Formats: sequence, C-alpha cells, structure tokens
Amino acid sequence: MNLTQRDLAVIWHPYTQMQTALPPIPIVRGDGALLFDENGKQYIDAVSSWWVNIHGHANKYIAERVAKQLLQLEHVIFAGFTHEPAIELAERLLAILPTDQSKVFYSDNGSTAVEVAIKMCLQYWNNQGAQRTKILAFKNAYHGDTFGAMAVSGRSAFTKAFDSLLFEVEFIDLPTADNIKQLKSRISYLRSELACFIFEPLVQGSAGMIMYEAEHLNELMSHCKAEGIFTIADEVFTGFGRTGKRFAMDHVTEQPDIMCFSKGLTGGTMAFGITTCTDKIYNAFLSTDKLKTLFHGHSYTANPVACAASLASMDLFVAPETEANIARIEMSHQAFAAKIRNHPKIKTIRQTGTILAIEWQTGEDTNYFSNLRDKLYQYFLDAGIILRPLGNVIYILPPYCITDDQLAYIYGKIELALQEVGK
Ligand SMILES: *Cc1c(COP(=O)(O)O)cnc(C)c1O
Repeated sequence: MNLTQRDLAVIWHPYTQMQTALPPIPIVRGDGALLFDENGKQYIDAVSSWWVNIHGHANKYIAERVAKQLLQLEHVIFAGFTHEPAIELAERLLAILPTDQSKVFYSDNGSTAVEVAIKMCLQYWNNQGAQRTKILAFKNAYHGDTFGAMAVSGRSAFTKAFDSLLFEVEFIDLPTADNIKQLKSRISYLRSELACFIFEPLVQGSAGMIMYEAEHLNELMSHCKAEGIFTIADEVFTGFGRTGKRFAMDHVTEQPDIMCFSKGLTGGTMAFGITTCTDKIYNAFLSTDKLKTLFHGHSYTANPVACAASLASMDLFVAPETEANIARIEMSHQAFAAKIRNHPKIKTIRQTGTILAIEWQTGEDTNYFSNLRDKLYQYFLDAGIILRPLGNVIYILPPYCITDDQLAYIYGKIELALQEVGK
C-alpha cells in the first residue's frame, strides 16, 4: 500500500468530507516556503500551512534549538515546577507586547488560549461576586473549535449540530463609520451583564479574510474600557507579523486586557498556546480562599520543547531580516493588487500586511461549499501552489521567507486563473 492508501485506511482528516474529498497528498519534506510530495513534486505553501508557518519549513535554526531542548528536558509537570524556557519565553514575549500585559498562561493551541481567556474574564467577575456572565463578540467571528471557543464564534454551518448547546453570546456587526454609534449604545445598554468583548483584531480570518479599520476597533475598545468590560484580543492568527506590524494591537492605541496567541508562536513548528493578561485580572485571583484559583491546566502546559521552538522563532522574528521580509511581501502584494484590481472577475481585493485576499465575482453558489472553491483549489494545486480558498475568496499569506520569484509565480498563476477558471 502507498501512503495515501494507508492513510485512508486509518485516518479521519480535519474539515474534510471523507467520502467525497480527493485523497490527501503525502508530503515528505519541507524547505523554506516549499513542500515536496512523495513523487518529488513541489508546492509553494502560500497559506503557511493553515496560517502557522512564519519562517519557512524545516527551519534549521528552530530545529537545532528544539533538538537541544529534547536532549536536556522534554517535559515536566508545570504545577509546582518550572523551567527556564517557560520563564524566558514569558519574559521575552511580554517585553514585545504593545500593552501592559503582565502575566503569561500557557496552553496547547489557539482554541485553548481562547478558553483560558474566557474563563479568566468570567471567573474575574465571579470572584468579585458580580453577575456578569455574557460575552460580546463579532458576527462571523472565529475563535476555535472547542465548545467555549465555538460559542463565541459566529453561528454557521460548521456549528449547526451543536448550536443548542452553545452558551448565549451577544453578537454585534463589525464597526464602520456608519454604525459605530449604534454599537456603542448597544454595549452601554448591556454593560451590567457583559463580562468581556472578544475579537479578532483587524482581520476575521476564517470568515473569509474580512478586514475592518483599526480606528473603529480602537473606539470600540475604549468604549468597552469606559464601561468596565474586559477586552480580549484574539491574536492567534494576526500575531507575529501577519498584519505588517508585530501584533495587530500595534495598529491601535487602546490596550486590551487579555491577548491570545498560537499559530505563529512556535514559527509553525508545533502546537502551543499562550494567554496573557494584565495585573488587574491576575490580582483578582489572588486570595487565601482556594476557590478563587484559576482551575485550568493541560497535561502539556508550558511544554519545554514548545517553549524552545517559540524562543528560536522569537530570535528570528525580532531580527531585522524578518521585518524587512514582511515589508517586502506587503509591498509586493500592494503592487499586484493594484495591477489586477479592475479585473471583471474580481469583486473586491483587500490587504492587511502580508495577507492578500481576492474575492471572486460569482453568480450563485458563493459559499464555502461552492464549486468554484473546489475548482480554484485544484487549479492551484495542479500549478504547484497550496491556496485554500474560503468560499470564493482566495488568499495568500506566505511564510515570510518566501522569495520574490515564488511570489511572482503565485501572482502569475492567479492572473491565469482569472482567465481560465469560472464564468
Ligand atoms: C485558528 C484560530 C483559532 C483556533 O486555533 P487552533 O490552534 O486551531 O485551535 C482561534 N482564533 C483565531 C483567530 C484563529 O484564527
């Protein structure tokens, strides 16, 4: 049996209709922005392997740091014990966060980072004896796939089977110049019930790379602050350079109470999550009363190997070359967007930092499950490019080490697709 046959015999893939999906492509190695399949065919990873990779695949520097850590200490229980990689990572992350974040809580992935954030806020109020149990979120938000994270995400086809079990959340529209006044009065009206406001800053990734203005987010955040509602910046996707600055929160002046990180945190090497918070939140859990403890933890909390990968990724992330690469991708996207903006098959084209999203003009059937999506996906795969359209939105968000030639190749194939795919 080949790898594909062996896979299909024993594996159930994420977000995959196993009956109708094409068989998975076995990837045997990676190098920079490239992935290679078992036949030696190369693919440019234009989506950074579900948005996690920032420094390229099989990065030597990260690999060596991880290998060294594995030989020294692979894991230790994190209740009652600690280790230098966890301490150093917390120190270094807090030092580059654009806020008064002061404590780091480790977990395993983006969804768990969100769960921790929500629990911190809800228990904060509980510890004060206050009845603030409602959460405010944006329509079409995506914060993860565990139940709490799903509950604060928009209701959709993906959540339908579970909707009756998801706790009630107050959903508001994304802010615009026209509706911001209304949103603020809605928030004020609900203030006594609201524990916190969770949002994806600047870009709603899973919703289809929907973008909104930093200025309006800033206004909402400062309004929440004035009303005593905690703000949670879910930077799981936007963190570590995606939006052109180190963090999406670097685009606003207001500071969140809590931040969530995952995806790019380890450079895309392994699963890991971080929730950070201010002293105000942390202090509300300090007590001689054991019931005020934050009762949350995972077996692999603060795994030293994941910390080591994050530290190595951090070294690369703060190096001037990475900043230059991010700026280079941003400018390159801009030039390409300007070139194709008026193409009749393009409905809109939008960009934030290294993220370029092109919304395809379609007649009917424009959702996630559309035929156009499948056609585009296959078209780019055949061309040796991994792009995973969200409905009729194709987006490029490459590892920062992608070369100009590789970018030009992707752009060229998109122009060809505009001629050849769809009506
Ligand atoms: C991907 C994502 C998550 C969930 O992260 P996982 O590691 O997949 O659980 C949460 N929030 C945002 C904004 C994301 O993009």
